[in-house]
Amino acid sequence: MRTKHLLDMTGLGKLLTKIEPYMASEDDITVYHAPEYVERVKQICAEGGGDTGEGAPAGPDSFEIALLAAGGGMAAVDAVVEGRVRRAFANIRPPGHHAMSDKGMGFCIFNNVVVAARHAQRKHGIERVMVLDWDVHDGNGTQDAFYDDPSVLFFSLHQDRLYPPGFGEVEQVGSGDGTGFTVNVALPPGCGDAAYLAAFERIIIPIADEFKPQLVLVSAGQDASTMDPLGRMCVTTEGYRRMTQAMIDVAERHADGRLVILQEGGYSELYAPYCTLAIVEALLGQRTNIPEPLQIDSLSNQPQYHTVGASAEAALEQIRATQATYWSAVA
Ligand SMILES: [Zn+2]
Repeated sequence: MRTKHLLDMTGLGKLLTKIEPYMASEDDITVYHAPEYVERVKQICAEGGGDTGEGAPAGPDSFEIALLAAGGGMAAVDAVVEGRVRRAFANIRPPGHHAMSDKGMGFCIFNNVVVAARHAQRKHGIERVMVLDWDVHDGNGTQDAFYDDPSVLFFSLHQDRLYPPGFGEVEQVGSGDGTGFTVNVALPPGCGDAAYLAAFERIIIPIADEFKPQLVLVSAGQDASTMDPLGRMCVTTEGYRRMTQAMIDVAERHADGRLVILQEGGYSELYAPYCTLAIVEALLGQRTNIPEPLQIDSLSNQPQYHTVGASAEAALEQIRATQATYWSAVA
């Protein structure tokens, strides 16, 4: 809501093409989620609400809202693939990337980005989809959904061992035919723009270029921001702007520009909307004259703005070496 208000206040809202969301059907949701789980969520909501799993509370209307969030991602994919817009931002709630096949987790009820990727494949015949998750937490549900599937290249760029335990480890690279198609970029706490951009330059972009996606999806959590109460990373609005530009460039090189960014986490009520504003500005190729609240000038005095720290260097090298088995671009 704050993000929407900020976009409207800056005047950017007027430049955007509104994409009308629709409700995902149960058939759309069960491409990943177990039918019994979908039924359970419906039941929990009908009874007035409760937890759909581990820390994913639902109220009386959450079933419909969660279907609308998943359908919002699908509608954004439709608009991009059908050429009505070149790229899209799905400002949807609840988020999705922690939701597992059989349970909600971490505020997520249904996995929006998984549903969107499968929709692109099933309805639009897209074969190769890339999903980049830059939320500060690991995208465990998304990793689980595509773990043995080489048609979806999944990157999770997150704070190492934050949440949830047991997922997002660098050694987890996929299984079976999907081996090498899961890329966990787990960075130590305290990384800022420099380490994030190094991860893009050294790992994410080279592997993406080798994979050649036909559609790029981003699970965008603005909880890697320097003000976030749940994350311990130091990414600025400028960092988010540059990460978005990198994804625009990958989409332009391989996917006819097709890029859909789906909102995930972000818990600084003050700062997260400005990070999202920077993302939307990058998507539009425009800049407003709204100054960011922390002033980049003072943030740029932080060492992690310019410098990749020693622990981040070691982590990046370990990730590169692990993925070099599967991708010649990083060998
Ligand atoms: Zn998160």
